[in-house]
Amino acid sequence: MKQIGFLIIILFFSLNLSASITVEYKSKLAPEVINTEMINEVEYFNVFELNKTFKAKIMEDLLDQRLNVNIYGEQLIFLLESSYVFFHSEMYSFSQDIVQKDGKYYIPVVFLKMIFPRIFPDKITIKKDKIIAETPVDSSIRTIVLDPGHGGKDPGAVGYSKKNFEKDIVLTVTKKLKKVLEENLDVEVLLTREKDEFVSLQQRTKFANENTADLFISIHCNAHRKEVIDGIEVFYLSTAKTDEARAVEALENKVVYEYEGGLEAVKKYNDLAFILADMAQSEHLEESYHLGMKLQNTLVGSTKGYDRGVKQANFYVLRGAFMPAVLIELGFLTNKEEEKKLIKTSYQNKLIQSIYQGIKNFKLKYDKMQ
Ligand SMILES: [Zn+2]
Repeated sequence: MKQIGFLIIILFFSLNLSASITVEYKSKLAPEVINTEMINEVEYFNVFELNKTFKAKIMEDLLDQRLNVNIYGEQLIFLLESSYVFFHSEMYSFSQDIVQKDGKYYIPVVFLKMIFPRIFPDKITIKKDKIIAETPVDSSIRTIVLDPGHGGKDPGAVGYSKKNFEKDIVLTVTKKLKKVLEENLDVEVLLTREKDEFVSLQQRTKFANENTADLFISIHCNAHRKEVIDGIEVFYLSTAKTDEARAVEALENKVVYEYEGGLEAVKKYNDLAFILADMAQSEHLEESYHLGMKLQNTLVGSTKGYDRGVKQANFYVLRGAFMPAVLIELGFLTNKEEEKKLIKTSYQNKLIQSIYQGIKNFKLKYDKMQ
């Protein structure tokens, strides 16, 4: 009898080891649980539990040894193999280090109970062992801005035949693409121009920002003084200094978190404020690159056009966008053969289907965030 009682006690404790924390929402949303587990006698949770409960977007940045967690539209930066999280250039410590298990990152539960409510005081409260939370924001891709290049007084590229203009071809393609996207994906698609009119580059990104677009896709046809040049390419933004800045940033971050305490902690704070200012943009650069890759793959795959690759360039039209943004060059109007293809409805439809597939592939991955 005694033994059975002992077993029950053991059972009770081992059940307790794989515990959970209930999350109740202020709206009518059904409660969720964050599963926790003991690792080295400390209670941890898999960071992806935040995706389930708070629709957080989680990006592992292994190069810079960070975990970027976007929650309630705000960016939290966890430094891997440390006990620090940065938010709005404030540093918070949860005492125990983030650990890796089976390729997944685990964060101490202390973060949820102590730091989470401090970071979001008007959204998160702890009641006994429950988290009472503001309803999470769904950050999946909902609004896409398509930008048909040029228009009005600006014809863009002129065809080999001198009869066809970039501004007309891209408008036709973009209008049809809008239809395909809206019919097949749960998205709203807005165009920077719906007719043959001039729109400044600044107005185009301003339009995307004002409509809080989740993606910005600028559509163009190419031109080259050598008429033999042909092929498809996709660009995403980069300024010459960004690469260097990123490299410097990675370097500084390592130095920063190798030193702890005292004056170094102050240095850490100052350096991080600088790094954070650059974060929002660099985050989108990576996403833009992934979007570009998906689009290039589907476009080249279906058209068998010459693959000119995904490239970085400092396009003004991409610079002002606060969202993943790419610029597609569908082909060279200055190439006799490619011009013939680009004006054909069947070929345009092939391009449209490819862009749709590329966006769909990106959206699936982005919405779930790996
Ligand atoms: Zn153009």
